[in-house]
Amino acid sequence: MMACLSVILIFMPKDWMSRHWEFIPTQYAASLSDDKYSGGNSNVSWLDQEQQLWKCELAGQYRNPYCSMLLDTLSDTWSGLDLRDYSQMTIWGSYEGNAEFVRIYFRNRHANYYVVGDPTSTKYNMVEIPVAELRNGITVNLKDFSVADWWLAHRKIALKDSHPEFNDIIYVEVQTGSQASGGIHKIQLKKITFRGNLISDENLYKGVVLLWSVLIFLLLLFRFIRLKLELNSNRSYQQELISINSFLNLQNKQFEDLAKTDQLTGLLNRIGIRDALYDGLSDFKRSGTLMSFILCDIDHFKRINDSYGHDVGDQILKSVAELFKNNSRSSDFLARWGGEEFILVCPNTDLQQAQVVAELLRKKLDASELHQEEKITASFGVATIAKPDLDGLFRSADLALYEAKDAGRNQVVCKVQEV
Ligand code: GH3
Ligand code: MG
Ligand code: MG
Repeated sequence: MMACLSVILIFMPKDWMSRHWEFIPTQYAASLSDDKYSGGNSNVSWLDQEQQLWKCELAGQYRNPYCSMLLDTLSDTWSGLDLRDYSQMTIWGSYEGNAEFVRIYFRNRHANYYVVGDPTSTKYNMVEIPVAELRNGITVNLKDFSVADWWLAHRKIALKDSHPEFNDIIYVEVQTGSQASGGIHKIQLKKITFRGNLISDENLYKGVVLLWSVLIFLLLLFRFIRLKLELNSNRSYQQELISINSFLNLQNKQFEDLAKTDQLTGLLNRIGIRDALYDGLSDFKRSGTLMSFILCDIDHFKRINDSYGHDVGDQILKSVAELFKNNSRSSDFLARWGGEEFILVCPNTDLQQAQVVAELLRKKLDASELHQEEKITASFGVATIAKPDLDGLFRSADLALYEAKDAGRNQVVCKVQEV
């Protein structure tokens, strides 16, 4: 749309953007003069003073014969005409005689050369008009004016003042043309219309460029603001997601912990030691690092339940779990395997070290007084990995536990995994 507007602005006829002004000669005081004062013999006179129709009998023998009519544009204002805003003028008039041209002078004054009281010190901006076209109006560009040579030479005008100027025109003068030969010339200036663009082409182009610049700037600004808003909303959305995620992670962690934890004792359950088993098995496969299982089963636990009730049994299970936890190494993973059975997964632990751990736990439990009347003890089966087979390792530990029970309980039996 802007592109269309620009093209229209640049190429359309600019009549609607032009200014007009009509100069009617009869509205100004007119006077006639001829070359008699400078030694010629020409003779000027009014034919119809009202209509400003005048006659010149040009005496051809004189070097520069002339007659002229002078219009005083200062008659009722302090300043002369200002024609700077116009680029063209159309002149209507009438002419009878054998000349081809008449002269028009727009005489302006300027402090640089004007001498008060000396009308000839005004600058003679001049153009010669072909008389044949005067009747129907002839259009002349103001840039076709030039400053009369004789005036420049006579006045010794500086170069900077030698170009035509159209401000403060205090006289409009019509004169017989330079080529005019002797004889009768009848001249009448009827009307001059001036036309100028409200906006010059140069300013129009500047305006279009400015318009584009402003538009592009506004578009960029708009885009920048929109991106910034989008960025901000994205940021707050991201922030929200992060907070939701952290909340969900927390929840996940809680559920994860719950899923890996035995509800009664707070120890890990079977799922809880899955990662430790995976790591231990990988280490063994990769580097032969040993892993040991310590299986533990509380002795005669049924009896406790039967004698003191299930709740007391539960309480004792909790106490045993706590005691084991407090006395096991931080690198080991203690879990409730089920019922009154526990398992201690000991990464990077050989059979001998595992035996020491198991023996410690056994002794601690044996020495404890978890119940006032009943002595609580447990049997331990210890096995160390010898091949990458967790079931086999567990079976070995279970076998060792069975042997410990069989051997009288409250003891530790160790077994190397069968290869
Ligand atoms: P031993 O192992 O020395 O051979 O004898 P035991 O009496 O411990 O034998 P067994 O393993 O057969 O019995 C385990 C008992 O543990 C059976 C069951 O009632 C009890 N038990 C299992 N889980 C729980 C529990 O969560 N709470 C309570 N209070 N008792 C449980
Ligand atoms: Mg049991
Ligand atoms: Mg038991």
